[in-house]
Amino acid sequence: MFNFILFGPPGSGKGTQSVKIAEKYKLVHISTGDIFRKNIREKTTLGLKVQAIIEKGDLVPDALLIEILEDALLQHSKARGFVFDGFPRTIQQAHDLDTMLGKKNEAVSLVLALEVGDEEILKRLLKRAEIEGRKDDTKEVIENRIKIYNDQTQPLIDFYKSKKKFQSVKGIGGIDQIFAEVCKLIDRFI
Ligand code: ADP
Repeated sequence: MFNFILFGPPGSGKGTQSVKIAEKYKLVHISTGDIFRKNIREKTTLGLKVQAIIEKGDLVPDALLIEILEDALLQHSKARGFVFDGFPRTIQQAHDLDTMLGKKNEAVSLVLALEVGDEEILKRLLKRAEIEGRKDDTKEVIENRIKIYNDQTQPLIDFYKSKKKFQSVKGIGGIDQIFAEVCKLIDRFI
């Protein structure tokens, strides 16, 4: 299996690139953000639990992430592999993912980061706020999300570097140009 993590700050384009990667390499795309938003829209128990947290830009508790991921892995037990988008976001989640994949005798194959600076991110997210009206795209919440990314998610870079699974590409430029760079890297590993 090819288990691929697309990594990067909020607004780095993970969602866009993940969809393209999943399509090209026939992998299952798992976006934890999309799963949460769907549950919020449908007012499920999970949705009601996480709505306030997400609207503040805070992280959903790790324990809930494990449940969601276990569910997704079960649902797609015949998948060729996965593109994880927005997960893991904490060191605990990274350990949990290793454990979950380990049970299937699988492992993370590659972590690919999209590099985009804070200023550009703020600009992009504010623009997205105008277009999509996501509740977690207000200036205050965006700043909180960037801070949480820097505090809790960025440490994953060293975690995966130490496992020699980390690669990065510049996340600035046209979507197709970035995708071409991403594919070049993936093709070296797949
Ligand atoms: P972005 O990458 O733009 O921040 P996502 O769609 O990936 O957006 O996530 C939206 C929100 O969903 C996050 O701000 C967080 O509240 C919650 N979330 C998504 N994935 C996780 C995760 N792995 N751990 C904790 N919270 C998460």
